[in-house]
Amino acid sequence: MRSAGIHHITAIAGDPQLNLDFYTETLGLRLVKRTVNFDDPGSYHFYFGDKIGSPGTIITFFPWPGARRGARGSGQVTTVSFAVPPNSIAFWKERLRANHVIAEEIGGRFGNVALRFLDPDGLQLELVVIPGNVEEFRRGTFKAPSPGSLEVARDVRIVGLAPPTLEVRKPEKTGQLLAEILGFEFVAEENNRRRFRGSGSSASSEIDLLSSEAGFGQIAVGTVHHIAFRAADDEEQLRVRKQLVARGLDVTPVIDRQYFHSIYFREPNGILFEIATDRPGFLIDEPVDALGETLKLPPVYEPKRNEIERVLPTIHLHHSAAS
Ligand code: ZN
Repeated sequence: MRSAGIHHITAIAGDPQLNLDFYTETLGLRLVKRTVNFDDPGSYHFYFGDKIGSPGTIITFFPWPGARRGARGSGQVTTVSFAVPPNSIAFWKERLRANHVIAEEIGGRFGNVALRFLDPDGLQLELVVIPGNVEEFRRGTFKAPSPGSLEVARDVRIVGLAPPTLEVRKPEKTGQLLAEILGFEFVAEENNRRRFRGSGSSASSEIDLLSSEAGFGQIAVGTVHHIAFRAADDEEQLRVRKQLVARGLDVTPVIDRQYFHSIYFREPNGILFEIATDRPGFLIDEPVDALGETLKLPPVYEPKRNEIERVLPTIHLHHSAAS
């Protein structure tokens, strides 16, 4: 396998409306799918990303209203990062400040400036400046897809995911799995942080393994549930599944997630990994202009729509950000 990089990252939120408002309005991402957790249809599953929910731009949430908060620690994806264009940091500092979000500027992330802050549930996020030609961003011709937002001008918008931080006790074990099975290559090391790159060309092709002595994290509100890597197609997914099984890992069968097909396993440091296909994508059950506006259910839950809608909290999407 030569994975192109990250497909999506899924985290746990508390209040669904706060989550929706923060990611669409403060960060300017688009809600590309409003559905339920297929393993627990009494709770929402929100997908945020670019205009069509391209792999590599997607962060998803299971909102669990009233649930307790988790704790960051080893064996987790401890930071979710987004790539922003050069010269956008001043804009983002002001936007976060205006939304009462305290952000800290961190330098020296392999030479790139980043802003670090927390979402309303305490999930640690970063906006990382990715090198590139400012003019390319302005003209919208930069390779990374541009998320749509009515509120955030094109030349400062989040363009997709940037290298997330995976904190682990034994980085060499996860590194071996990434290199030998998922087809990532080691590219650089700095401050106990090892960067690996998949075959894709955008910032979402990279991940960082941070060597950590911290205690194990607890997965609940404000923490990452799992990270998904891209498989080109179903055949590649089946091939890599065989290799994972041969290595002694406990891998699920292929599961139909409606918008992609998935397998799941725990990597040697305990992080839940998913491998998801690029297809069929988010346009399978609604047109591009209507993405995220109504509750979509997989066929198996359609007969229970009334019952499901009755238990889900009411939410309002203030704008659909389809530009
Ligand atoms: Zn997933």
